Amino acid sequence: MRFLLGFLFWGVLLYLLWSYVLRPLIARLEMPRSDRQQDELVKDPVCQTYLPRSRALERTIHGTTRYFCSETCLRRYLGPSSIKS
Ligand SMILES: [Zn+2]
Repeated sequence: MRFLLGFLFWGVLLYLLWSYVLRPLIARLEMPRSDRQQDELVKDPVCQTYLPRSRALERTIHGTTRYFCSETCLRRYLGPSSIKS
């Protein structure tokens, strides 16, 4: 009986150690840093919407990088100058 109680004690201890210490640690290690940077919020200058960089359309216009939520906003931003060319 004593052996069983000891076994149970270590089982619970190992389980707690696993779920509260090791699992969060592994989860943190598995998350790449670049993913976090990609999900930085960027602003669409046309409709003023904030969206994750990974989902935005990136265009460099006159040396400045701009992010757009859609092709429609990109075209609206470029405006008459895009029709000329
Ligand atoms: Zn937009």
